[in-house]
Amino acid sequence: SVEASIPEPQREAWQRNQVANFANKDGFEREVVRHVETTLARSMFNCDEVAAYSATSLAFRDRLITDWNKTQQRQTFRDTKRVYYLSLEFLMGRALDNAMLNVGLKDVAKDGLNELGFRIEDVIKQEHDAALGNGGLGRLAACFLDSLASLNYPAWGYGLRYRYGIFKQEIIDGYQVEVPDYWLDFNPWEFPRHDVNVDIQFFGHVNKTTNADGKTVSVWEGGEIVQAVAYDVPIPGYDTPTTNNLRLWSSKASGGEFDFQKFNNGDYESSVADQQRAETISAVLYPNDNLERGKELRLKQQYFWVAASLYDIVRRFKKSKRAWREFPEQVAIQLNDTHPTLAIVELQRILIDVEGLEWDAAWDIVTNTFGYTNHTVLPEALEKWPVGLVQHLLPRHLQIIYDINLYFLQKIEKAFPNDRDMLRRVSIIEESQIKMVRMAFLAIVGSHKVNGVAELHSDLIKTTIFKDFVQIYGPDKFTNVTNGITPRRWLHQANPRLSELIASKCGGLEFLKDLTLLNKLEQHIGDKEFRREWAEIKYANKVRLAKHIKDATGVTVNPASLFDIQVKRIHEYKRQQLNIFGVIHRYLTLKAMKPEERKKQLPRVSIFGGKAAPGYWMAKQIIHLINAVGAVVNKDEDIGDLLKVIFLEDYNVSKAEIICPASDISEHISTAGTEASGTSNMKFVLNGGLIIGTCDGANIEITREIGENNIFLFGNLAEDVEDLRHAHTYGSHTIDSDLDKVFDEIEKGTFGTPHDFGAMIGAVRNHGDYYLVSDDFHSYMETHQLVDESYRNQDEWIAKCITSVARMGFFTSDRCINEYGEEIWNVEPLPVERN
Ligand code: PLP
Repeated sequence: SVEASIPEPQREAWQRNQVANFANKDGFEREVVRHVETTLARSMFNCDEVAAYSATSLAFRDRLITDWNKTQQRQTFRDTKRVYYLSLEFLMGRALDNAMLNVGLKDVAKDGLNELGFRIEDVIKQEHDAALGNGGLGRLAACFLDSLASLNYPAWGYGLRYRYGIFKQEIIDGYQVEVPDYWLDFNPWEFPRHDVNVDIQFFGHVNKTTNADGKTVSVWEGGEIVQAVAYDVPIPGYDTPTTNNLRLWSSKASGGEFDFQKFNNGDYESSVADQQRAETISAVLYPNDNLERGKELRLKQQYFWVAASLYDIVRRFKKSKRAWREFPEQVAIQLNDTHPTLAIVELQRILIDVEGLEWDAAWDIVTNTFGYTNHTVLPEALEKWPVGLVQHLLPRHLQIIYDINLYFLQKIEKAFPNDRDMLRRVSIIEESQIKMVRMAFLAIVGSHKVNGVAELHSDLIKTTIFKDFVQIYGPDKFTNVTNGITPRRWLHQANPRLSELIASKCGGLEFLKDLTLLNKLEQHIGDKEFRREWAEIKYANKVRLAKHIKDATGVTVNPASLFDIQVKRIHEYKRQQLNIFGVIHRYLTLKAMKPEERKKQLPRVSIFGGKAAPGYWMAKQIIHLINAVGAVVNKDEDIGDLLKVIFLEDYNVSKAEIICPASDISEHISTAGTEASGTSNMKFVLNGGLIIGTCDGANIEITREIGENNIFLFGNLAEDVEDLRHAHTYGSHTIDSDLDKVFDEIEKGTFGTPHDFGAMIGAVRNHGDYYLVSDDFHSYMETHQLVDESYRNQDEWIAKCITSVARMGFFTSDRCINEYGEEIWNVEPLPVERN
């Protein structure tokens, strides 16, 4: 048992003094008051909402950490296989609301806070989002952590503790302005572990020496050392005491605050500079989504984080005193995209250089340990690092990469004797003018499974970018795990009234743990009262969003309008430009109508939100055009409520929790074949909104599950994209006539200086229309027409929404985690009862 680890003489005292978790209102209030008065050194007379938030969080944090301790002890004693999820991004959002719901004490906290003079909603709002991610990839990692804990998997996340998360977006005069997101002023959710630190080496050189056994060994020497310090964030499972760990590494100068030697020699400035340079490594999250820029600091971040995590994982394994060959039986490491690929090289280095294993034995362990998740086929997002940069920063790792490549290519040569071009194509080293390390190829060669994140995407990687590797390894190495989302945060927390209504029809809240239970809703579609309640909740959520829009932008929108929402990173492939061109077309059509005809039209609010990467000029133009159109349309008295165009600034997880429940229709309209999965599509449908979308990513599987009558699909198919692009470039490219009118209107200056939008129009008219905006425009507008007609029949519309929600069970991230667990990690949950 766990207690057996405490020496006999002291055991009784420890057991007698176990910390008792609060379980009711009085216990909760006592903890809050204690934290206000002692931890925060305040009193009831100056306890504002921020202090109430802080004390409430500390009360819950204490609870989580006792569960965390027991979870870790249980997992260590059972000595089960653990999963390590390596992700450079964890887009967690707020923690308090989630913690309260997962431990089942939100009502207790609500009543307690009430008695102390606070409204729980106001207290929750005080928390700063933990925004250590760009978008879908980082949010997926966060949903996976929730599912891993909720399903009782022994699992840790490993990431970087950025001092600045994704920037805050302000819209000034219609333009995006980036403001730093310093979020660590007060963060009650992390535990600094100053005793858990690892020295990380950079630069230097490699020496070959002979060891005591007469074996030649490589020794990596010199360079500089930076220290990694662990910060632990407890991850509570839903309705289970399992509380897993997210370990984030922070960088600091090795050997303390600054170099005393230099300091004492009077070289104060340089001693501080060393410290600052070390701290820079974990200072900022790179704000690019689906784009790699090859910056040295980014590579430093990657190695720093990977090396610290592996050191930690290996240290934990070594405590079990098992033989090295058992490593893959105890450890599964999942690479979230190629960002942690150096982990493959680092583990091989540890095994051969530090632990003295033979190359082949070590490589066997490595490849059986890692799994790699690919997130994109976009060429600009595929990671490559210049050989020279890797050589400079990580000289020993480059040697190992060359050896991995050599042995790999030797095998290929044997298997495909007369295919020299194959060797060139699959080599981990790209022999271009500047030689590059292809990280995706290294990840494939060093892993036992490679997965895509939706069916179409997983098929595409097998037939395009990784085609040769399917020939080499056979198809079984490549698999699909369609993404999912946690229904705890994205339904229960974001939309509590809908969650309650669903619970009343599906046998209680069990559906949050088994999302397929949603299918019971279908029996109730004929129930008029149920449909009325459903519609009423949607309306209330729209009122809540309308209030947010009013507060944020000053624009009044009518909640009875159709809310049409596109929120996600701004990207040409995601095609916000198609959406705004469509909005302009709608505006022109309304303007051209006679007043009596206009009155018959359905009022709409077009809502946009999302950040553009600071260096992505075209994306910033798109934001500018959306705001410019809004400025004209929203004050046009001919139009009134018939059309409003809103750009919501600083889209993030906590805003998504208000936005998703309020949509009637949301837009997932990427050029076919470009969006790997999408996950916000799932969030919107789960909250009872319909979607308009292309046959791309998970939209295809959503259609298969909910039925094609319940989704508005349009546009060209992935299989036709290449031919269309070819035709644009080499044939004649005629622009859709309605779209041409939209362009003419922009060029007339209706939305401000036309020059500002020249590149957006040029991309379609003159530069090959890579994203097929013109090809899909007609189909897109026709489909929006259908949306309008469909929405007019509210009874049918609500029935479609309910049917869709009933069939969304597949898209829980619990299903994903079980698939990874069975097919890739070979790990089992460690079930536990709440005592
Ligand atoms: N950004 C935030 C803040 C999110 O909550 C989500 C949720 O899915 C995403 C980005 C990903 O959106 P999408 O799947 O539409 O790219």
